[in-house]
Amino acid sequence: MALPQRKTDIGPPHFEQFLPPVIKKNYGKWKYHEVLSHNTMVHVAESGDKLWTVRVASPRILSTDTIREHCDIAEKYCGGYLRYTTRNNAEFLVSDEKQLEPLKKDLASRGFKMGGIGYGITNVVHTQGWVHCHSAATDASGLVKAMMDELFEYFESKSLPNKVRLAVACCVNMCGAVHCSDIAVVAVHTKVPTVKHDLFKNMCELPTVIGSCPTRAISPDPANKSVKINPDKCMYCGNCFTVCPPISIKDPERDGVAIVVGGKINSLRSNPKFSKLVIPYISNEPPRWPKVVAAIKHIVEVYAANARKHERMGEWIERIGWERFFSLTGIDFTFQSIDDFTFMRDTMRTASTFKW
Ligand code: SF4
Ligand code: SF4
Repeated sequence: MALPQRKTDIGPPHFEQFLPPVIKKNYGKWKYHEVLSHNTMVHVAESGDKLWTVRVASPRILSTDTIREHCDIAEKYCGGYLRYTTRNNAEFLVSDEKQLEPLKKDLASRGFKMGGIGYGITNVVHTQGWVHCHSAATDASGLVKAMMDELFEYFESKSLPNKVRLAVACCVNMCGAVHCSDIAVVAVHTKVPTVKHDLFKNMCELPTVIGSCPTRAISPDPANKSVKINPDKCMYCGNCFTVCPPISIKDPERDGVAIVVGGKINSLRSNPKFSKLVIPYISNEPPRWPKVVAAIKHIVEVYAANARKHERMGEWIERIGWERFFSLTGIDFTFQSIDDFTFMRDTMRTASTFKW
């Protein structure tokens, strides 16, 4: 007798089973999409079918109560279908136009904030922060809340020359899309880790610790039955701390953030770009990080005032030149912005396009 198909949690389930019927029916046959407002867009299929999307902000780390509420709303208006975007917006997918306005009214009455579609600022993609990750050099959720409180008008109503994607990573391991966002905050440790030799031999494995260092700064220290770190090679990434707690990199006084700008993922008009460092260090000032928030808002405003329509942040900077970017924004150019990293791939093609 054949055994019934066993259900496991190994690997993701096939995405097809989660597609709304209208997407399944028109799969690969969508003609165009149109942004109708800051919170709504419509996709039109070759068959004439339409699918409306209403985008809602989320704090990324969601309570089960909020997820249940999202599901209840989707059940009521969207045939039970919704999705979460890579920047952690919730999107309600409506195939019956009559449900669109009642859905929006319901969302508004429950206090959900709609927006983030088109030429503005959408939810900030961010990492775990102090709430969860042990390597964090700054908080993520708290900093993002402080940022979006200031920039909320660009989410809900105010337009920019093009979309501006924001990201926050709470250490240089960058679990967020910091390297390819228009403006991003990267938290930085600023000192070489210290090693507690007496704890090392009981808590850490020598090969793993040596293998964890991307710059080969760690070597054995047989006298102490531990390791030593070459400060000239260390780039303060904290990888060694991740595999070996007695190597400590945290410093509440010196940990802070850097700001990078100009990255993007898509190949529209110009190649994808990596973000580049413009502000090397701002100290942590929880709970509202006023200097970081002011710096980001300032860059957004200068971009809004100077970029041409459709220009992404990186495209605008490349047109006017980095020198002009620094003079327009009034940001001091520091030596940290000069890329002298040994493995810099300036001369290598790093784009995803194969025809220039
Ligand atoms: S970016 Fe760094 S600190 Fe933040 S969640 Fe990822 S590994 Fe942890
Ligand atoms: S912080 Fe990073 S670069 Fe420095 S020793 Fe540890 S793993 Fe190596």
